[in-house]
Amino acid sequence: MPIPLLTATATGGPLDPAQLAALAALGFLGWRLLAIWLFPYAPCWHCRGTGKHRSGRYWRPCPRCQGTGRRIRLGRRIWDWTRNTDTTRR
Ligand SMILES: [Zn+2]
Repeated sequence: MPIPLLTATATGGPLDPAQLAALAALGFLGWRLLAIWLFPYAPCWHCRGTGKHRSGRYWRPCPRCQGTGRRIRLGRRIWDWTRNTDTTRR
């Protein structure tokens, strides 16, 4: 799929701010998608990734992440959800 922005810059035309902003947004989006794909888990915010939660004097498994210390990123959930709906429709 050719990207019009890249071909426009390749012909030697000067970059205008709108093109730069579009490129930056594209790069940011690509980085986010890559991060979601490579690192689907983020540290649990409730227990800070330890998997344990202190209640009073005792340590218990964190109720948010069931003691794993990880939570699935929101983007990954949406990704899984779209994939699941696709497979059920077929
Ligand atoms: Zn947790």
